[in-house]
Amino acid sequence: MMARTLAAPVTVAGTSLHGGQPVTVTLEPAPAGQGRVFRQGETWIPADLTAALGARLSTELSQGGATVRTVEHLLAALAGLGIDNATVTIEGDELPILDGSARPWVVAIAQVGTVVQGERQPPPPLREPVTVQQGDSFVSAVPSDRLQFTYGIDFPTAAIGRQWRTWCPDTEPFAEAIAPARTFTLQKFIEPLRAAGLIAGGSLENAIVCDDEQWLNPPLRFADEPCRHKLLDLVGDLSLLGPLPPVHVVAYKASHVLHVELARALATRLQT
Ligand SMILES: [Zn+2]
Repeated sequence: MMARTLAAPVTVAGTSLHGGQPVTVTLEPAPAGQGRVFRQGETWIPADLTAALGARLSTELSQGGATVRTVEHLLAALAGLGIDNATVTIEGDELPILDGSARPWVVAIAQVGTVVQGERQPPPPLREPVTVQQGDSFVSAVPSDRLQFTYGIDFPTAAIGRQWRTWCPDTEPFAEAIAPARTFTLQKFIEPLRAAGLIAGGSLENAIVCDDEQWLNPPLRFADEPCRHKLLDLVGDLSLLGPLPPVHVVAYKASHVLHVELARALATRLQT
């Protein structure tokens, strides 16, 4: 396995989802062994499990009183493109939502390219299955001959319904199969979130939205775009653990909280 970083800095600007504020982010090359790190003023916040907080609607990182919210789509892009080392400088406390997918991050990174930094220590293998669950939601990781992810969702609306998808990074490029899938929501969830002071920057430009029957802003990029987006979130959240050994991760009706919980459970198993 080879360690990688960006070949040059690249800046991305957009609007934060929950705060609704303009925000600028600069991705920069970083030395081998540094990992993926956010820099907010003088504070460095590592994108790892020491700083991770699975929140209700997004994943947050917190360290020394500084917080960065909604990191999962950028982290998915970095992990999906094999970028182990990067410094992400952010003015503010939330990443821009962009179009609700990881594609704009992938496009920005492609503009500067990546460079190989040498061999990386492979993670220790997983010896036996590990599962975290909450009600009928679960995420499991089982030993496998290669890394793959399966996601299942089930929503009581005809627009989404029950969807399952398996993604294997070795056979389908992240940039094509997963990165373009956008965040999704039900119209009836929007007003309560607004009332709670969340998703001020949310719009039909950065999420696919459905009512009980149909999508309000078609066309979708994939017939199973919601399920692919859950795979995107899962990849971003599990990247907090670092490189994964060959495992098959299976998630059903899970959340950021449960994704991060699985990463923590795996972290203890992979040490022993
Ligand atoms: Zn997401």
